[in-house]
Amino acid sequence: MKSFTILTPTRTALVNITSHVSKAVTESGIRNGAVVVYVPHTTCGITINEAADPDVAQDILMQLDKTVPRGRMYRHREGNADAHIKTSLLGTSATVLIEDGQLVLGTWQGIFLGEFDGPRNRKVYLQFLS
Ligand code: ZN
Repeated sequence: MKSFTILTPTRTALVNITSHVSKAVTESGIRNGAVVVYVPHTTCGITINEAADPDVAQDILMQLDKTVPRGRMYRHREGNADAHIKTSLLGTSATVLIEDGQLVLGTWQGIFLGEFDGPRNRKVYLQFLS
């Protein structure tokens, strides 16, 4: 297993971590299989979506905020219930196939860490399956 840390820039953000994962795959020497990308957190998640047009990430964040607004209507007293809910909507892991030592991603796809209660240092774990 490998891991790396990301300092997220703002309270909410979709941070493209594809290059970190790709570098780790190369370093691992794995040729064929899969990598599980996992975050051990309750207010950030992992998703795969379009990385070519940054407006897509902004639209996802905007719609998540509309669907799950930050506010005081929640029972959780820490004040970040929206971040917990958004994290559950994304999930905390993604599995990406590996072929010939490369991530199998579509032309427009990237792997994103979804931050919902930053800025913070976030740990990302990678487990290789071969
Ligand atoms: Zn909380």
